[in-house]
Amino acid sequence: MKRSLPGIILEELADFLEKCGAASYRAKQITDWIYKKRVASFDAMTDLPNELRGQLAAEFDTPKTVVLRVLGSKDATQKFLFRLRDQNLIESVLIPASPALYGQPSDRRTICVSSQVGCAYGCKFCASGLDGFTRNLDAGEIVQQLIEIEKFCGEEIDNVVFMGMGEPLANLRNVLRAIRIINAPWGLGIGARHITISTSGLAPQIRELANEPTQFRLALSLHGATDEVRGRIMPVNRKYPLKVLLEACDYYVAKKGRLTFEYILIAGINDTDEQARGLAKIARRLSAKINLIPYNTVEGLEWSCPSHTRQEKFQSILRKHGVTATLRREKGHDIAAACGQLRLQTNRAERDGRLSV
Ligand code: SAH
Ligand code: SF4
Repeated sequence: MKRSLPGIILEELADFLEKCGAASYRAKQITDWIYKKRVASFDAMTDLPNELRGQLAAEFDTPKTVVLRVLGSKDATQKFLFRLRDQNLIESVLIPASPALYGQPSDRRTICVSSQVGCAYGCKFCASGLDGFTRNLDAGEIVQQLIEIEKFCGEEIDNVVFMGMGEPLANLRNVLRAIRIINAPWGLGIGARHITISTSGLAPQIRELANEPTQFRLALSLHGATDEVRGRIMPVNRKYPLKVLLEACDYYVAKKGRLTFEYILIAGINDTDEQARGLAKIARRLSAKINLIPYNTVEGLEWSCPSHTRQEKFQSILRKHGVTATLRREKGHDIAAACGQLRLQTNRAERDGRLSV
């Protein structure tokens, strides 16, 4: 199989050019075409000699990741459904402004990208896991989500969060390659501190990330302060119970400085005072800030979101224990946090013959 051009790294291109006997400065010209001018075919790379274009075409593919549907308005959150080259569907979300989302200033555009088609981790509240796992995305398919959305909306993206479909740490090699491209000056040039990986808690990979030199951020989806509560909604907790997970987090924080917690509030499940106190204790141990996310209803799932009063009570207990906790209110963030639903609807509609896209 040919290698995917939108997942290529400058140094790899330089090696390829050397083998072809082409000048090394061409590598930068080619990355400019892919990552800056965003062209999708070799024919469009007009400053390259014809022979080299042919050599590139023989070695590399420029697979199409096509925007299939866009939901939402230009000045609010927009949700993008992509069709991949093998017909699989993935989602990304563009959030225009993100007040206090992961601590960045509010005038920024954040994109929430998928890292896999489906997800194997089957959290009980999540749309992405409902249809199981299909495959990993390659680095090019991750990067293309950004490129295509920037092309579509004509604006640059400032923040990237791996909070779309899939578990990024289960596809670590491709995610790290994509981050390298997103971060590189010859790539998309987005600062590492503006890139956040979110995980459901794969302890060994959290340790691996701790040893990565790039300064991206890590968010841990905790959603439960005891094994009993967490295990009920997140099967991954059986494999990596809190003791194992939090030791990996200790190691991460010692090496990298900090991480953030994501905590979905689900009525009657994890929103009790006792869970809030347990969560405060864990957050203090790791000096972590907490993003509380009111649960976003998923079609076909039984869970619901606690009342505003309950949400605020939960937050106030955390604050009383000296922990910084933000409560997401903006609709867009709820949509972003519940990535996977649009694909689910589309897949189901296609299966039932209700929609042809
Ligand atoms: N697999 C990774 C990243 C993708 S999920 C992870 O679990 O962290 C990104 C975030 O969306 C997670 O915090 C996840 O728990 C949250 N999420 C999933 N379904 C949701 C829903 N219905 N409402 C609110 N947040 C949800
Ligand atoms: Fe997978 Fe994350 Fe959804 Fe859990 S919350 S099923 S890990 S995408």
